[in-house]
This record gives sequence, structure tokens and C-alpha cells, in this order.
Amino acid sequence: MSARPIAVVGASAAGLAAAEALRRSGWHGPLTLIGDEDQLPYDRPPLSKQLLHGTWEPDRLLLRTRDQLDPLGLDLRLGTRATGLDAATRTLTLDGGVGVPPLEQGRERGRLECAGVIVATGVAARTLPGADGLAGVHTLRTLDDALALRAGLADPARRLVIVGNGVLGCEAAAVARELGHDVTLVGRDPVPMAGAVGTEVGELLAEEHRARGVRLVTGAVDGFTVAEDGAPARVGGVRLADGSLLPADVVLLAIGSTPAVDWLADPALDTSDGLRCDAYCAAAPGIYAAGDVARWDHPVHGRPVRFEHRMNATEQGMAAARNLLAELAAEGAHDPGDTPPERRPFAPVPYFWSDQYALKIQAYGLTAGADRVETTLLDRDERRTVALYGRGDSAVGVLAAGIPPRQIRALRAVVATPVPWDEARERVAAATAAS
Ligand SMILES: Cc1cc2nc3c(=O)[nH]c(=O)nc-3n(C[C@H](O)[C@H](O)[C@H](O)COP(=O)(O)OP(=O)(O)OC[C@H]3O[C@@H](n4cnc5c(N)ncnc54)[C@H](O)[C@@H]3O)c2cc1C
Repeated sequence: MSARPIAVVGASAAGLAAAEALRRSGWHGPLTLIGDEDQLPYDRPPLSKQLLHGTWEPDRLLLRTRDQLDPLGLDLRLGTRATGLDAATRTLTLDGGVGVPPLEQGRERGRLECAGVIVATGVAARTLPGADGLAGVHTLRTLDDALALRAGLADPARRLVIVGNGVLGCEAAAVARELGHDVTLVGRDPVPMAGAVGTEVGELLAEEHRARGVRLVTGAVDGFTVAEDGAPARVGGVRLADGSLLPADVVLLAIGSTPAVDWLADPALDTSDGLRCDAYCAAAPGIYAAGDVARWDHPVHGRPVRFEHRMNATEQGMAAARNLLAELAAEGAHDPGDTPPERRPFAPVPYFWSDQYALKIQAYGLTAGADRVETTLLDRDERRTVALYGRGDSAVGVLAAGIPPRQIRALRAVVATPVPWDEARERVAAATAAS
């Protein structure tokens, strides 16, 4: 048994799933979970939904309580940032926080030599020049972000401008309208969520947002103006490239995210658009990645993919843990007991959902980057819809809005692997016939 720990960097959905899977799969050695936030691992999807709405408080977001974490026997280092990884020696450099390793003879403080490392550092919210230090301008990635935005919307009838009309911007727009605020949603693309779901479904969502009173604006943001009420560092509006001005008390930047790989400076690792992995989620020997940060060769889709989806974070955390243990067993660094595990390619059926107003949108497979989409509108008023997404002659993704769970499950089976387009159309029609 190795005296070196396995370290999981990133104490959120993927990191926690990896840590739990390591224990379940028989890793009895030291296990370090490192996270730069101060909070215990919590769930992010409710940040733009129940938490922003005020129907949930932060404690409801916890993925595990301290009591539930205790049996894992973790060396849990919150408020600690990983600042470097030497892939060849599997050594991490850590900064700050409690529990940084004590000074040992011949060892530098803040260095952690590991048996293996799982990188689960997720993504960080993008921002815009001029936004830093301007009160009233928010991003929405962390619990602190969400609480700050919620506080900014505590007074009634705020003028909220959301920059970015992707999934996150649309969800926040829906909540803010339900809370009675004056909401403007600005995007470069005239159709909300077009990148994720295509223009036909996006236009249907646009109808829903307009019907609920959201103002949809197309344009590129050029900068911010400052409030005229004497508060020098408070936002007063959003300026667009065409010279128009959108007055705002509160601004949310929902313009996408950047994989959190800035701390991984090792040239042995490919960090262009996430940490590049093989089909087993391995970035280098003994170094694995999981969740939003991981870009890996999906064995079914035959190209590198990276998903920012909640379910993927859990599934990939578990897969990376199993594969790392199998590798360590082969190296003799882990005693697997009677049945040596085998590394397995990670081949999930991608899944994401979004909640906007009363509408639940769920999608399986690949919906982004499709070259053909066929949308079937089941009920325009209720926006009940099914859409099939294809690349070449194959169907690769399916989306459903407002349809019952039983039918959703049938749709998953349609795109578990790419299927010929006509066959998929028939199967989708059969699965939704009763809607
Ligand atoms: C507001 C919001 C709403 C969402 N809604 C949905 C939804 O409806 N459906 C859906 O499918 N998905 C949704 N998602 C996406 C989903 O939450 C993510 O896919 C999931 O959280 C990814 O988990 P992760 O563990 O990979 O990364 P993260 O949750 O981003 O966790 C990474 C952690 O690593 C930490 N970290 C980063 N760098 C370092 C470092 N150098 N050292 C130590 N720690 C570090 C970060 O601070 C963070 O705590 C939503 C995301 C957000 C932000």
C-alpha cells in the first residue's frame, strides 16, 4: 500500500464523486481533497434556480454534510489552491489554506507528492474588461457569486441586464422575471441558447421569455456606464457596440466560462480548452481529469469532447477514480484484493437539463454543433417540443421540453449511440406519440 496520497484537486461535484469512488473501490491509503473555495462541496445547478429565487438557502446545496464526509477519512483541505503539478513525479504545489503539509526533512512546504492525481477544477466564469471593481456587475459560478447577485436583486423592480443569452443567462432571466424585476437579455446571437440547442428550439424559448416580459436585445457589449446617483463605482448601464445604452441597476455577465487549467503549467499536459485526456480520462501516467475541466476522447463520438453538465461531473469523477486505481494496481502501488480492476473507456450518454419558468428542458447526446435539426412542436402554448439533432447521416442528440419522464427515458435510448437518421426519427415519433 502506498504511503503517498491520491490527491483530488477540485472539491465539487466531480472531485467528491472521485473521492467517494476511490474509497468504494478499495483505496485505503491517504486521500486528499483540495478545494480553493471555503465551503464543503455543494451543488451548482440550484445557484441559478432555487438559490437565486430565494426558495432554497445555502445549506440545502451541500452535496454532503461533515458527518457524511467523515467516514471517507479525507484529508480535506478547503480554502487551498493548487498552484502547480509536476506530472512526471505526480507532485502538487499548494498555496494557503488549512492543512498544508507540515515541514518535513528535505520536503518543501506546500508540496504534495502523490501516488496519483485527479484534476477536477471545473471552469471559471468569463468576465469583460471594465467589469472588475464595478459594483452591481456579477458573474454566476460560485455560491458567493449567487448570494451577491441575490442580494443585488433584494430590492423590488431592479433593472437587470443579463449579458449572454446562453443557458445560464436564460435561467437567471426566468428567475428574475418571476421575482418581478425588469429584465433585458442581451446576446450576440439573436436567438437565445442557439449554440446549445439550435435556432428552432431557441426561437421557441425566445417566445416564452418574451411572453413572460423579458426584453431580448441583439448586440455586442462595448462597456459599462457608471450610475449617476453619486456612487462612482456602481454600474449604471451597459453600452452596446452600436452606441445604444441599456440602463441597469444590476448586471449579470453570463458569457461562458474558461476551464480552470491556469495552474497546470507542466508542458507535458495539453491544456488547450480543458485538460486533454485519452478515452480513459488519463492526461498522463497517474494523472486523470473529470468534470467540466476534462476534454477527452469520447469512444462513441470519435472526437474530443468537454461537457459542462452536472451529471457528467459525477459519472466522470467515478470513471477517473476507477481507472486511476486500475493503473496503480498495475504499477503495484495499490492492492486491489482478489479482482484486479481493468481500465475502461469513459463513454457516457451526455445529458443536461435546464429549468426556465415551469419548463424543464432535457437533452441526451450531442445537441451542439449539429448540422441538421428536426423540431416537432407538440403544443405551442405549453412549448412542449421534441428535437432531433444529427451530424451527417446519423442522429446524435435529442431534446425534449415539457414531456413526461417516461418518454424522456425512451428518448435517451434513441441516441445512446449514433443511429441512422431515419431510424431515429421513427423511434422519436413512437416515443412521443402519446404526448
Ligand atoms: C449556476 C449554474 C447552473 C447550472 N445548471 C446546470 C443545469 O441545470 N444542468 C446541468 O446539467 N448542469 C448545470 N450546471 C453545470 C454543473 O453545475 C457543472 O457541470 C458541474 O458543477 C461541474 O462540476 P465540476 O466538479 O467539474 O466543476 P466545478 O463545480 O466548477 O468545481 C470545481 C471546483 O474546483 C475548484 N478549483 C478550481 N481551481 C482550483 C485550484 N487550482 N485548486 C483548488 N481548487 C480549485 C473550484 O473553485 C470549484 O470549487 C450549472 C452550473 C452553474 C454554475
